[in-house]
Amino acid sequence: MLPLDPQAEIGRRAWVPCPNCDDTRDCEPCGERRTCSLHWRYLLTNKGSLLHLQCPGCTHVWTHESGFGATRSLWSRVTSGLPGQRP
Ligand SMILES: [Zn+2]
Ligand SMILES: [Zn+2]
Repeated sequence: MLPLDPQAEIGRRAWVPCPNCDDTRDCEPCGERRTCSLHWRYLLTNKGSLLHLQCPGCTHVWTHESGFGATRSLWSRVTSGLPGQRP
């Protein structure tokens, strides 16, 4: 297991399935691509549409091409957790 990246922040999360542990497979909200309270990833950094993610469950780190523009709904969900936008 890798340590959590120092850039991992609870306020910056992304709802992308983990390619390593596949923990969203049998989950209803994840299957409907909603923001699940159990399954989310730390958004470490992003360069344009390329997201650098870490799974809090298995600590797997990977990059995910979000296809900015094509999947605006994902992008708005990804950025909804930015500091200053919390209730
Ligand atoms: Zn994982
Ligand atoms: Zn889920």
